[in-house]
Amino acid sequence: MIDFSLSHDQKKLQLKAREFAINEIIPVSRKYDQTGEFPQEVLQKAFDQGLMNTIFPQKIGGPGLGILDTCLIVEEIAAADPGITTSLFDNCLGAEPILIGGTEEQIDRFLKPLTEELKFIAFATSEPGMGSDVAGLTATARLENDEIILNGRKMWVTNGGVASLLSIFCRLEGTKRHEGITGVVVPMDTEGVKIGKPIPKMGHKASNTVMVRFDEVHIPLENILGELGKGFSIAMQTFARTRPTIGAFACGMSRASMEYAIAYAKRRKAFETEIANFQAIQFMIAEMKMNVDAARLLTWKAAWEADQNRDNTISASIAKAFATDYGMKTVSDALQIFGGYGYTTNYLIEKLFRDAKLYQIYEGTSQIQRMVIGRYLLTKYNPIFNKTFT
Ligand SMILES: Cc1cc2nc3c(=O)[nH]c(=O)nc-3n(C[C@H](O)[C@H](O)[C@H](O)COP(=O)(O)OP(=O)(O)OC[C@H]3O[C@@H](n4cnc5c(N)ncnc54)[C@H](O)[C@@H]3O)c2cc1C
Repeated sequence: MIDFSLSHDQKKLQLKAREFAINEIIPVSRKYDQTGEFPQEVLQKAFDQGLMNTIFPQKIGGPGLGILDTCLIVEEIAAADPGITTSLFDNCLGAEPILIGGTEEQIDRFLKPLTEELKFIAFATSEPGMGSDVAGLTATARLENDEIILNGRKMWVTNGGVASLLSIFCRLEGTKRHEGITGVVVPMDTEGVKIGKPIPKMGHKASNTVMVRFDEVHIPLENILGELGKGFSIAMQTFARTRPTIGAFACGMSRASMEYAIAYAKRRKAFETEIANFQAIQFMIAEMKMNVDAARLLTWKAAWEADQNRDNTISASIAKAFATDYGMKTVSDALQIFGGYGYTTNYLIEKLFRDAKLYQIYEGTSQIQRMVIGRYLLTKYNPIFNKTFT
């Protein structure tokens, strides 16, 4: 059986997020892009309306939504502002390692307080010297009595400057590559945690991005997620669950780009007619729609698999790579339709263009997604034709 329809509740959720995006985000989007201010007020409203922390279980007071539900919400929000979406969704990224590898007690201890008031939890695998190669991370954990002592640096920590907790991946001293990587929850007010200044960025200016340094940070063993040294799998499972959501971010951004391009093409004239009358423009717009729809289907499939607790590693990488790469093409073509005006800061398309680029980079670059898919095809894929026909 196959069914592409959304349930009554999902349609309501989608509409609620859409109205939130139109009423609460679009009016302030430009302001946050220009000032780089953290969108605390917007996030407070999103929190109050149950549009944040979507995957937090109901038993701890969260909305208890699935990944597909989350995709419906973030597509709407990203259509209004990709940068605010990054800040809004980051609590789900920070919480996933706890939901995947943590005990009931840890879920309760770390995540319940985030359902009671607006607080932030960030996520950190990346470091100044590495991002793609997660097994190459170097931040260390030294075991001492009933504590681990953290040392090292984490780079690009989204919401790191505002978070009260951080889900971090580090390695047990003396271990190499995948073995020894350990997930730990770090309260940001622990002695020895030093937070850098916000990193200046080309887009997503409303999201806070910082470096975090750990100098002899003492963390109790009860903050370790899963088994010591077995955190690599938790990090990878996290990405499989969050990558569909990045696909949905890109769908929202692409959809908005397409809609802006259509509206502009209908009113801009050249050669004594609206540019929408040129077939070259119609084809560009048609391709945008083809790519937005294809990206959404791949995203929903990957999200649905995650909600069914299936291994969605491959579908998540396919969705993320397709939606973000074609998202970049869509916004670039949309800007082209705006001609010279697209290159000015007077039109939102310029902001979307800057914001779109990050989607191809964080949570695994487009190249890394292809590496995951390629490795699978060459080692695990079961061919339908299992002999060569010549
Ligand atoms: C604004 C922003 C927010 C972020 N937020 C977070 C966050 O909250 N938490 C977090 O942990 N990280 C975060 N990141 C980090 C992000 O995930 C990394 O930047 C990303 O994974 C790429 O790592 P890198 O920058 O070190 O690039 P590198 O790994 O150095 O890669 C450089 C280039 O080489 C390519 N490359 C690398 N290896 C291969 C290969 N095997 N085959 C082909 N090409 C390859 C890459 O695709 C890329 O094009 C964020 C980044 C940014 C910019």
